[in-house]
Amino acid sequence: MKQYTIGIIGYGGMAVYHQERLIRDPRLRLAGVSDIDPARCDLARAHGLRVYDSNEALLADPGVDLVLVATPNHFHHDLSVAALEAGKHVVCEKPVAMDSAELLSMMDCARRTGRVLTIHQNRRRDADFVLVRDALRSGRLGRPFSIESRVLGSRGVPFGWRCHKLAGGGMMLDWGVHLVDQVLQMIPEPVVSVYAQLFSIHTPEVDDAFKLFLRFESGVTALVEVGTLHYLSLPRWFVCGDRGTLQVDDWSCRNRLVRPRDEAVTWEEEILFTKAGPTKTMAPRSSASLEEETLEAGDVDFAQFYTDLLDHLEGKAPLAVTPDEALRVMQVMEAAFRSQETGQAIPDRI
Ligand code: NAD
Repeated sequence: MKQYTIGIIGYGGMAVYHQERLIRDPRLRLAGVSDIDPARCDLARAHGLRVYDSNEALLADPGVDLVLVATPNHFHHDLSVAALEAGKHVVCEKPVAMDSAELLSMMDCARRTGRVLTIHQNRRRDADFVLVRDALRSGRLGRPFSIESRVLGSRGVPFGWRCHKLAGGGMMLDWGVHLVDQVLQMIPEPVVSVYAQLFSIHTPEVDDAFKLFLRFESGVTALVEVGTLHYLSLPRWFVCGDRGTLQVDDWSCRNRLVRPRDEAVTWEEEILFTKAGPTKTMAPRSSASLEEETLEAGDVDFAQFYTDLLDHLEGKAPLAVTPDEALRVMQVMEAAFRSQETGQAIPDRI
């Protein structure tokens, strides 16, 4: 069994998560870490890890095959390029770069050096996402026409670099990059229009909430919403097809899929009188005309990320997260920023 070693640049919260939960494949060993903050270096030593004197020292170690770049976002490009140039394969944390120009430069470097560049888009494994994606693929909802994906918190943007534009802060680059990636995985069509509203309520430099509307080629739309100042929440997913509606409440995957039993809409009453007055269109269906099921959520193994990557390095599997996919996500987010600036929907073909 061939052994691989990985070095981590940036030993912050996410790096510890990789160390403790993700680097599990028996073929992979953690060589050590580098960080510019002496306190984080001390912590790494306390965790029994080798600490390199500098990022350069880590990259110069011929025993390191792969590098995880887990620094704040504005260092991703330069560190990934340096690692690729040093002959290492690179796993870059999301967002892979500050913009598509940076990502294209990283992709060019990967091509030139013949090394693999991949991105830790781990939320493709989230149980709620997999449940919705598979429900759509199964045709249970009929033809989808609207997908709503929301993550609403109430604690504001975390302090530190995430509040600063220069460092690539803000919710679009933080959570948007996951949720856009998910809907692009779900709907295998070009995005033809992007409209976004970004809010900077408590953090003036960056967005602490946003609403993003995507229209795909066939007309299906996705609303992606992230909030950090929402004291009540809405369902994690609300997905409408012409033969069913699926609601997934939260990360626990509590869900309901409701479908009509019969093909034709039946109007049982001429007019329904409600507290809000009379209505025909919005009169609820009889429960007998509907069927409801709960979809089973699968198990999640986030450590599979490295197994897939090592399988790819051994020629056994395609790369699970490609830079081209990350480029599409980046282009959608850039269109969202342009939409915010202009107040217009941005027509495109992404
Ligand atoms: P963090 O602030 O906890 O850690 C960043 C670490 O990088 C710090 O220890 C800092 O000292 C170090 N650092 C900064 N500049 C450096 C440099 N030039 N060279 C070496 N070390 C440097 O941040 P975090 O929450 O761990 O986030 C790190 C990255 O991981 C970000 O890109 C973030 O978007 C990403 N992240 C991804 C997920 C996910 O679900 N995939 C979740 C959280 C964070």
